[in-house]
Amino acid sequence: MCPTSDILNDVASKSAQSELYTPVPPCYKLGQCKYVVVLGTVISGLGKGIFSSSAAKLLKDKGFRVSPIKLEGYLNIDSGTLNPYRHGEVFVLDDGMETDMDLGTYERMLDQNLSSLSFITSGQIFTSVLEKERRGRYQGRDVQMIPHVTGEVKLRLRELAMATSADIVFVEIGGTVGDVENSFLIEAVRELALEEGPNSTCFVSLTYILEPQALGEQKSKAAQLGLRSLMALGIQPHIIACRGKSPATDTVKQKISIYANVPMERVFSMHDTQSIYYVPAMIRENKIDTEILKLLNLQDRVNHDLERNQWENWCNFTQKIVSPQKEIDIAITGKYITVRDSYASILKAIEHCGAHLHTKFNLNWIDTTEVTNQNVAEKLKGMHGVIVPGGFGIRGTEGKIACIQYARENKLPYLGLCYGFQMAVIEFARNVCKLHGAGSTEIDPKCEHPVIDRLPSQYDLKGLGGNMRLGGHDIELVPGTLAAKLYNGTTARLRFRHRYEVHPKYIQQLTENGMIFSGKAPGEPIMQILELADHPFFMGTQAHPEFTSRPLNPDPLFCHFAQAAILHRG
Ligand code: GLN
Repeated sequence: MCPTSDILNDVASKSAQSELYTPVPPCYKLGQCKYVVVLGTVISGLGKGIFSSSAAKLLKDKGFRVSPIKLEGYLNIDSGTLNPYRHGEVFVLDDGMETDMDLGTYERMLDQNLSSLSFITSGQIFTSVLEKERRGRYQGRDVQMIPHVTGEVKLRLRELAMATSADIVFVEIGGTVGDVENSFLIEAVRELALEEGPNSTCFVSLTYILEPQALGEQKSKAAQLGLRSLMALGIQPHIIACRGKSPATDTVKQKISIYANVPMERVFSMHDTQSIYYVPAMIRENKIDTEILKLLNLQDRVNHDLERNQWENWCNFTQKIVSPQKEIDIAITGKYITVRDSYASILKAIEHCGAHLHTKFNLNWIDTTEVTNQNVAEKLKGMHGVIVPGGFGIRGTEGKIACIQYARENKLPYLGLCYGFQMAVIEFARNVCKLHGAGSTEIDPKCEHPVIDRLPSQYDLKGLGGNMRLGGHDIELVPGTLAAKLYNGTTARLRFRHRYEVHPKYIQQLTENGMIFSGKAPGEPIMQILELADHPFFMGTQAHPEFTSRPLNPDPLFCHFAQAAILHRG
C-alpha cells in the first residue's frame, strides 16, 4: 500500500540543504513511466495538440496506456474566464474543469475522457507553491523558480502518470520556445528527462517552414534558429515535425537535420491537410510512431493485432471524410463568427456526422445582429437546418429567436445548444404560449415573464471563475420520447456550462402547450432536453453534446439533426 499522507516524497534528498529536489507522489518510481514532450518553435498555433493527440492515439492503438497533459503558460487558473475570440472555445471536462480547446482534440482523438489532472496553468502551479510555502513545506528554504516551481511542475506530471497508471504521458507545452511565460515549464521538462533517466523522455519539436510568396520557395532559417533556441535551453529534440502549407522539401529537411542534430528519418513533414484526422496517417507513414517507441525502448511491447484492428476502424472513418456523396447547407448563428475556433467542438461534431452519413455539411455563419422577422426567410434561404449554439449576453438574441421561430414554423430542422435551448424556450413561450413579455433575466432582468432565469445555485456567487453549473451531469430521459430513443436508454451523460435554466414555474404552461421536456436532471427541476412533436426535427439541450461527440461514436442528437437536414433537402 502507498502512504496517503500529503508529505512529499523527495527521492533525491531528504535534506533542505540540497539543491536536488525531486518531488514524486507516493509509490512513484523514477523511470517507470515514459514521457513524450511536444514543444513549438518559430510561431504559435502550429498544431502541437494535433500532433500530440495523433501520436498518442497511434500508441494507444498499439496497446499502451496513454495520458495527455497540456501545460499552459498563462496565469489564469483555468480557461473559464478567457474570451473565445482570443483563445478559441472553452472546453469542459466531465469533472467540470474549463480548459483550453486542445483538451477537446485529445478526448476526441483518443476517445478517452480526461480529468483536470490533464490541464495545468502557471496560475495553478504558482498557487500550489505559495500554499505549500505558507504551510512550511519547504523547511526554511528560500523558494525558488528552480528547483521548487519546476519541481511542482514535475510533480504534477508524475501525479498524472500515477493516477492514470499511464505507460506514456504526452506533455504539450503551450506557446513557443522563447516565450517568458513557458520558460520554466521547458526547464521543468529538461530536469524531468535527467531525473527519469535514459530512454524515458522523447522530445518532439514542431517548427514552421516559411514559404514567402515573393520567393516561391521554402525557407528553413527561422526553423533552424527556433530549434537552436530550444537547444540553448538544454533540450536536444529527438523528432522534428515541419509544419507548413505544402510538404517540406528534402533540402529543407536536410538543413534542419544537420542544424538541429536530428537524423533524417526523424525529421518529417506535417503539412496542412483537409482534416486533422489525417494526421495520424501522416505520422504513421513516416514511421514516427515507431521512432518514438524505439527512443523510449518500448518497441517490443506492441500489440500488433490490436493495432491492425484499430487502424482499420480509423481508416474506415477517415475515408468517408474525403468521399462525401452529398452536400448539405447548415446555418449556424454565432456571435463569434469571426473566430471559427470559438466553435471548434461543434465543427468537429458535424464533421463526425458527415463521415458517418457520407455527407459534406457546409456551415453558413449567420450574424444574428442583422436578422429580423422581416428578413429571416431571406437569411435562411437554401438552408437545410439551423443550429443556435451556446452563448452569453444580449447581442443578437432577438435575431436568434427570429431564426428559431422560422425553423419551427417552416419545419426546418433545428438544434439548440445551451443558449440555443434557452432561446427556443423563449420563442415558444412568446409565440405559442402567448406570453408576450417572455425572456431571460440574463438579457433583461426585469422581463415580464422570466421563462429563463438564474439557477438557484447561482444566486449568491462571488467572482467569476469556475462557478457556473459545470461538467458532466446525468440526464434522466423520459420514456417514449425521441431523446430516449436517440440515447437508447433511460439516462444519458452530457456536459454543461451554464448559469441559467428554464424557470420551474413555467414548466407546466410550456408543457401544456406542447413543448416536451424529454430530459431532466435527476431529482431537480432542471430541464435539460426539449423536443417538439409534429416537426421533422426540433430539439434543444441545455447541455453541450458537441463536447462528447467522438469520431467513431458521434453524438446522436447531432446525427439525427444531420439526418433530418439531409431529408429536408430531399
Ligand atoms: N448564457 C447562458 C447561461 O449561462 C447559456 C450558456 C451557454 O450557452 N453555455 O445559462
